[in-house]
Amino acid sequence: MLEVRNINTFYGNIQALHNVSLKVNEGEIVTLIGANGAGKTTTLMSICGVVPPRSGEIIFNSEPIHRLPPHKIVAKGIVQVPEGRMIFPELTVMENLDMGAYLRKDKEGIKKDLEYIFELFPRLAERKNQLGGTLSGGEQQMLAISRALMARPKLLLLDEPSLGLAPLIIKQIFEIIVKINREHKTTILLVEQNAHQALRIADRAYVMESGRITMEDKAENLLNNEKVKKAYLGL
Ligand code: ATP
Repeated sequence: MLEVRNINTFYGNIQALHNVSLKVNEGEIVTLIGANGAGKTTTLMSICGVVPPRSGEIIFNSEPIHRLPPHKIVAKGIVQVPEGRMIFPELTVMENLDMGAYLRKDKEGIKKDLEYIFELFPRLAERKNQLGGTLSGGEQQMLAISRALMARPKLLLLDEPSLGLAPLIIKQIFEIIVKINREHKTTILLVEQNAHQALRIADRAYVMESGRITMEDKAENLLNNEKVKKAYLGL
């Protein structure tokens, strides 16, 4: 579904990504793990066109997308939930969700997706008229994921969904990610510093260090890999 081929991405003169290649097959959860500053966010930003690569290719459903502006990439079905959630604090939960569906015209489909989201996150249904900014951190993450789902993504890019949340909420968020993948048939590329949880739910994984992919394997193999255990799992 998605193939990133040898991309090199820069911030001004600073090269953040070096020949990064990765693949996400339809139906998979793929995770990208690595330390702070390894280049995980930049990889997502390159895929969604916010920080386009200077060289290399990004192919989505057999079509090159690395020269497209971000809104065209969203229209192709790649939707990102950015780090730090970035919901609209001055808009209500409902208005935030409507923003997610702004490219869509299928009223019936939108209604169905809203029902699905409120089933997935009953807390959001209870708070649908509340301002986004008044929600707890976990609820804001739920809202950010829901807003992305309202765009009916084929590929959902999640940047550190567990960041700054309490352990119990983190557990819920990871369970929801699996549900979205299985029930909502959404392919997922998940960036996480919480390597343990991410590897437990992912099919395959990539490890990033200093802007390069240094390992790739089935997630369960990486969970048992001595190097990964030491460097990322604290074991
Ligand atoms: P984090 O978990 O902190 O987001 P990361 O693995 O996602 O880490 P990136 O945010 O992609 O890492 O950063 C990769 C490198 O690019 C780092 O060296 C970082 O300092 C640099 N970088 C990131 N954003 C910018 C920017 N806007 N301008 C200049 N350099 C940046």
